[in-house]
Amino acid sequence: HADAAMYYAKSLGKRNFQFYAPTMTHEAMRRASVERQIRIALEEGGFTVEYQPKIGVRSRRLIGFEALVRLKPVDGRPPLSPVEFIPIAEDSGLIVPLGTWVLNEACRQNKAWQNAGYLPVPVSVNVSAVQFRSSEFAATVRQALKSTGLNPAYLDLEITETTIMQNFEHGVTLMRQLQAIGVGVSIDDFGTGSSSLSKLKLFSADTLKIDRSFIRDLPHDRDDAAITSTIIELARNLDQKVVAEGVETQEQLAFLQEHGCDEAQGFFFSAPLSAQRFEALYGKQW
Ligand code: C2E
Ligand code: MG
Ligand code: MG
Ligand code: MG
Repeated sequence: HADAAMYYAKSLGKRNFQFYAPTMTHEAMRRASVERQIRIALEEGGFTVEYQPKIGVRSRRLIGFEALVRLKPVDGRPPLSPVEFIPIAEDSGLIVPLGTWVLNEACRQNKAWQNAGYLPVPVSVNVSAVQFRSSEFAATVRQALKSTGLNPAYLDLEITETTIMQNFEHGVTLMRQLQAIGVGVSIDDFGTGSSSLSKLKLFSADTLKIDRSFIRDLPHDRDDAAITSTIIELARNLDQKVVAEGVETQEQLAFLQEHGCDEAQGFFFSAPLSAQRFEALYGKQW
């Protein structure tokens, strides 16, 4: 353990030298190291945001984009992915300042593009369960819109189905507050949580976002094809928009078009890009 602790301290560089109790497990040391990286990145401007386009399945044009947080690389080393650091940010509470930073940065960038004359489209920002449960969240959204001047119609919040269903009564109250502000709400990773249909109707999100796990094996997997077409139908009957995430192939896109899916997002169109590289997608026809 002492060797491992030294290795971790060194791997962070001199600047980040830190002590570990010899009794800490390898996993605890890893988490402490990631937590410290998050803290330092928050203080020193070490985060950035990438943007991934959402495309109209019929128009084949940009109709929105999702903001995805990234750690900037340090000393040329590949940074940790959000899949690794978001859970640790959640457990440590750092997700609250981090989430607020992403929200403000995404709103600022979207407003800047609108000011520069690009076609206005909504930016979608992911909301963690920890932010969702906080009583301050609606005020944080209001403040981000106010300080950046972004019209609420151009902000969409992605909240996972699991988060909503685990905090349902609070979720409905928050949803009403967000609707009053005028922002959109999408249910992310839809199909992986456990919605009851009556709760889904009561929550009344604007958009269902079909989880990538159902898209991956389309159109060949019969179960996934049935689930995907059923979610599309459900969204239509509830008067909600439907987005497919993780679209990687022409065949998947053709299936989605045939079944009336409104929007698609995935590597088939583009990976998440830096703001600078994203600008080229505004005029693009896929
Ligand atoms: P998510 O919100 O479901 O985001 C979609 C993830 O799928 C992104 O991974 C994106 O890069 C990836 N993706 C997009 N298209 C494709 C595709 O065609 N194929 C495959 N295999 N993957 C695709 P990323 O950026 O690593 O983010 C992972 C998760 O981390 C997100 O899932 C979200 O839950 C969380 N996350 C990312 N940024 C934020 C953030 O700013 N705040 C919060 N709370 N969570 C975030
Ligand atoms: Mg998302
Ligand atoms: Mg998702
Ligand atoms: Mg997902």
